[in-house]
Amino acid sequence: MKFGGTSVASVERIRNVARHVKREVDAGNNVAVVVSAMAGKTNELVAFCREASMLHDAREYDAVVASGEQVTAGLLAIVLQEMGIWARSWQGWQIPIFTDGAHGAARITGVNGSNIVSRFKERGEVAVVSGFQGIHEPTGRLTTLGRGGSDTSAVALAAAIKADRCDIYTDVDGVYTTDPRIVPHARRLDRITFEEMLEMASLGAKVLQVRSVELAMVHDVPTYVRSSFDDPDSPKDGTLICAEEDIVEQQIVTGIAYSKDEAQITLRRVADKPGVAAAIFVPLAEANINVDMIIQVVSDDTITTDITFTVSTADYERARAILEKAHDTIGFASLQGATDVVKVSAIGIGMRSHAGVAARAFKALADKGINIRAITTSEIKFSVLIDAAYTELAVRTLHSLYGLDKAA
Ligand code: ADP
Ligand code: ASP
Ligand code: MG
Repeated sequence: MKFGGTSVASVERIRNVARHVKREVDAGNNVAVVVSAMAGKTNELVAFCREASMLHDAREYDAVVASGEQVTAGLLAIVLQEMGIWARSWQGWQIPIFTDGAHGAARITGVNGSNIVSRFKERGEVAVVSGFQGIHEPTGRLTTLGRGGSDTSAVALAAAIKADRCDIYTDVDGVYTTDPRIVPHARRLDRITFEEMLEMASLGAKVLQVRSVELAMVHDVPTYVRSSFDDPDSPKDGTLICAEEDIVEQQIVTGIAYSKDEAQITLRRVADKPGVAAAIFVPLAEANINVDMIIQVVSDDTITTDITFTVSTADYERARAILEKAHDTIGFASLQGATDVVKVSAIGIGMRSHAGVAARAFKALADKGINIRAITTSEIKFSVLIDAAYTELAVRTLHSLYGLDKAA
């Protein structure tokens, strides 16, 4: 069972979490619980680090931001004990959860679930685990898994202890056809495939960390997203993330996602000759900058062309600086950038077998006067880059277009 920030936002909310745990214990289950920091806590800790120094040591950032989860793990153990349930808190290093050394965005490399499992066997003890953190064994230092990383802690632990299920409790009662905060007509999905959830998460649906879905898919962990705000004694349905063969009713489009974490760069009048794309993208790759959408315009004069691509907003300034520096090798007339853009995507495994799914979207967006700056497509999704001002209109338009709106 994993409980996110809003679910543990106060001691009162933690008591409510404990009642969910008690229900599972009373039903005869062994339970490992992964908790996030109280809502807003991690943001506060990140801000402290920035205030202390804009260029802080990543190891010390981890030392600071991992503390939020330690508080909630201890508190939940106390509350469970008070309810008469055997419970013990565990920090990442105590389990241990091993990670690589990429401080601030570490990847889990292994989890030793044996201590937790022996406590299950000895006395049915509930393990309360601090999410978001692990240990880099060679240096013995604490690491964190990147924002939203408690989801990944939970799935990795579930895989390690061979749990029957990984329940992710959050502030919505499942995965919706799109973010319910911006489309009130969004519907809860009963089921979604691992592949679709992976795309949804990668393309901006922050309900699960991308890495947690990858792990769930690789280790085949049935993952269930549900609400901690349900009455603990009569919980309602959530969304099961499962393999494709377990999906009964298949839609062409399952969900719409959007991401504001995109910035557009256009290089005007670059030479239209072999090696130019390499001259642009190799230096960016060497600086660890991920490039997402790429468009090269066919030129009129066959001598020069325009190249447009997107990077994440965090890399935008760095990318510009690298390109300006490489100006002479690339040879472009001007560099134009835009950060007020958003990527809207539609996802569905049904796209594999249906033609013209994206074309309908282009028409619908045009009818609303929304200009498309860039497009990418792959087997089970397509994305369009548009002006950020049209985010909600575009998401709502596509949501209705593919019949995802909840019946009124
Ligand atoms: P937690 O603190 O429990 O980890 P998060 O805030 O990380 O919770 O994730 C839950 C939020 O994800 C929801 O409140 C919702 O606004 C947002 N969200 C974005 N896209 C979706 C979606 N397709 N389905 C459900 N929730 C979504
Ligand atoms: N507390 C961490 C964060 O806010 C991890 C998590 O909640 O999943 O990013
Ligand atoms: Mg989260």
